[in-house]
Amino acid sequence: MSDWALVYNGYDAAQEGMRESLCTLGNGYFATRGAAPESSADAVHYPGTYVAGCYNRLPTEIDGRALEHEDLVNVPNWLPLTFRPLGAGWFSLDAVEILSYRQELDLKRGILIRDARIRDGQGRRTRVTSRRLVHMATPHLAALEMTITAENWSGEIEVRSALDGRVENRGVERYRHLSSRHLAPVEARALGDRTMLLKVRTIQSQIQIVQAARTRVVDEGAGRICERRAAAAEGFVAEDLVLELPAERPVTIEKVVALYTARDRAISEAGLAAVDTVKSAGNFDALLSSHAAAWDRLWRSFEIDIDGAPGDRGPMAMVPSGIVRLHTFHLLQTASPNSTDLDVSVGARGLHGEGYRGHIFWDELFVVPVLNFRMPEIARSLLMYRYRRLDAARRGARAAGHRGAMYPWQSGSDGREETPEVYFNPRSTRWIPDHSYLQRHVGAAIVYNVWQYYQVTGDVKFLAEAGAEILLEIARFLASLATHNADLDRYEIRGVMGPDEYHTGYPERDRPGLDNNAYTNVMAVWVLCRALEVLELLPHDRRRELAERLALGHDEIARWDKISRRMRLVFLDGGVLAQFEGYDRLSEFDWDRYRTRYGDIHRLDFILEAEGDTPNRYKLSKQADVLMLFYLFSAEELGALFARLGYAFESAIIPRTIAYYGGRTAHGSTLCRVTHAWVLARSDRARSWSTFSEALASDVADIQGGTTREGIHLGAMAGTVDLLARCYTALELRGDVLWVNPRLPAGLRRLRLLVRYRGHTLELAIDHEALEVNAARCAMPSMQIGIRDTVHELAAGERRHFGLAPADTAGAPREATP
Ligand code: BGC
Repeated sequence: MSDWALVYNGYDAAQEGMRESLCTLGNGYFATRGAAPESSADAVHYPGTYVAGCYNRLPTEIDGRALEHEDLVNVPNWLPLTFRPLGAGWFSLDAVEILSYRQELDLKRGILIRDARIRDGQGRRTRVTSRRLVHMATPHLAALEMTITAENWSGEIEVRSALDGRVENRGVERYRHLSSRHLAPVEARALGDRTMLLKVRTIQSQIQIVQAARTRVVDEGAGRICERRAAAAEGFVAEDLVLELPAERPVTIEKVVALYTARDRAISEAGLAAVDTVKSAGNFDALLSSHAAAWDRLWRSFEIDIDGAPGDRGPMAMVPSGIVRLHTFHLLQTASPNSTDLDVSVGARGLHGEGYRGHIFWDELFVVPVLNFRMPEIARSLLMYRYRRLDAARRGARAAGHRGAMYPWQSGSDGREETPEVYFNPRSTRWIPDHSYLQRHVGAAIVYNVWQYYQVTGDVKFLAEAGAEILLEIARFLASLATHNADLDRYEIRGVMGPDEYHTGYPERDRPGLDNNAYTNVMAVWVLCRALEVLELLPHDRRRELAERLALGHDEIARWDKISRRMRLVFLDGGVLAQFEGYDRLSEFDWDRYRTRYGDIHRLDFILEAEGDTPNRYKLSKQADVLMLFYLFSAEELGALFARLGYAFESAIIPRTIAYYGGRTAHGSTLCRVTHAWVLARSDRARSWSTFSEALASDVADIQGGTTREGIHLGAMAGTVDLLARCYTALELRGDVLWVNPRLPAGLRRLRLLVRYRGHTLELAIDHEALEVNAARCAMPSMQIGIRDTVHELAAGERRHFGLAPADTAGAPREATP
């Protein structure tokens, strides 16, 4: 990994699935895994293409029960482009001797390059290079270019360019028992003029998906075409060219593809749109230049330039700045300016694979803040995905006997609960009931994002038109979950799960769910406070209109206020928050014994279940649960919430709680290290930095043992970017002040990033001694920026330099003259 490229030297079939995920190219509308263009799905390769929001439901019978699953559909594979000397087998990396191999994901221009030299069974040496892109400016376009050089031979070759709609969702081994054929063929034919068309339809959601491809030989003088013929079958169309390949003269073949679905806007019909688009598209080089220019514009907003300490090359000698760029790159390929007009949010595994079936979880909590400060219009569109599913969430709440809006733990096309009823434990080969839908905290994450977005942008219109309604309905739901315990005169939330998915219930209780999960209860209080606040913030007429429409009366608001002051929290000895009521009764877990016995103990749930045991019996966590509170709130904010509830809060409780749960966490989710690195940032910067480095390795080193091939871990990727952008800078919004209070870890020498805040664009350059703020010229009135403890007025066009006292003995800043 260099600063701007992910490079693989040498082909390794065992790593190919992981590389395909990491080399995915996408543009927020669709994405295609970095699979070899000549490959098709098998034990090594998995060439998947996914269109944002394109889901389909299928029934499967499991243990005699008909269950339904919704998947982000693997749409037709547009990649196939390959060749063979006449009479020989089609080129495949797995069937030849590889003399040299290099694959590079160029992050700056957003292209994937492969350069391979091979020798076949007949001793023919051939160099095959390819470049591809998924266009960032014209989101329906993709292009692939292949150059073949016969190094020690010449002769006729056959080139095949195809569109293959016979694909299925087979990317995740654990789902192999589930139905996987989502596509039905509609039409496949050559159109003449070097163009072909493939139409398919998703079986249940009835979305027509169309691809049109134009294939041409770039320099026909070099590779004379002897013959061109078409081949079509159900769900498949190909164009075969017979070419004369001269010795030592490269011949380049170019394939440009347009992809549309019937749900796209501003079209008559998807096929017509695809054909028009592909016919009018420029050649590969022209497309590359407009594509790279679009990436350049994105990088100007999103690039975080970091300079590590000398010798610090992060995990596995990889350059941290390069990995941070890789993470930003994949975030932008999942959600980009092209997504803002779509009705989509971000799946936990990006558009990069089939893990979690493209579903949307609370992981948005780790993604939206990065977008808020750089391209808030993308963040807004993700929040609108939730707004449009408010009615589904209301139905969910009603069906569960509650009020307000209960957003699903896993969300897909229409916002119903998509969490499967059972999941498969490959260790025990048993189907296990999946209770994770009991994570009612997902609504609080949505409110957190709505609130953060509003604070960063000051977008009152969004709040009035959508945000407030989401917020109030989630508040209403959380309040309806709370029951009054008359003995304690406290409110309680019973029968839910916190973020720690290893705890699904009490071993002695026959129904799932835990009582008084600290994270859920505190978040509920915070949401209720925001609901009370938003009512004050809304323009009077909008407040009245909303209150009438939601039938929100004084009594209900008074109850919210009461709950927000009397919610119950449970504590362990020493003032540490108990993850849930009854946590103290659990047994300590023998970490050493399990580490020695199993090595990798990320999936302790699988291990224990296979042993006939359950994590529910132990003091162990899959991931940060209580600690999420320190991730989301500053000590001051938590102190205020505790004071409101009438509980004592001293800041020493934070390191004690971190130490307590830190030692009992399996890091079974990649989100966990992000949270741990964050909460350690103030108390133990060295450990925070090493945990950050581990979080950076989540996908590039596939630290969860094989899960990256199922798609990237988008939350962890965005979370690491956010750690640099908001955590080590302590970028916070309080009132109308943007606070920056940098405390860089020793491993980080310098940091430079862009921040958009209420119409201003600020460039922040930070090192251990100073902070420089450069406010771009704009028409906005001056803003307030707080450095350490002092608030400064900052005008557009102004550049300011602040000295930073040594971090551990920080005092007031010295303001230097520009
Ligand atoms: C984690 C969840 C997360 C989900 C999707 C699970 O392993 O426990 O917190 O939302 O993955 O990333």
